[in-house]
Amino acid sequence: MARCADCSYFFSIPAGDYDYEKGKGDCVHEEQDQKGKFWLSRPVLEESDACAKMKARK
Ligand code: SF4
Repeated sequence: MARCADCSYFFSIPAGDYDYEKGKGDCVHEEQDQKGKFWLSRPVLEESDACAKMKARK
């Protein structure tokens, strides 16, 4: 099964950042509504099962 770490929306948190934890990252998506584009970010783990929005890394 694919994992968040295999997804192009997954970004690892660099060591030294205030919220760094081994295996932790952010799921970052560009979204759009009637006012324009914006970014949504939420914490995820590398080993979490991929969700339906998963986009494989190239
Ligand atoms: S939660 Fe879904 S979209 Fe976000 S990084 Fe994981 S697989 Fe990708």
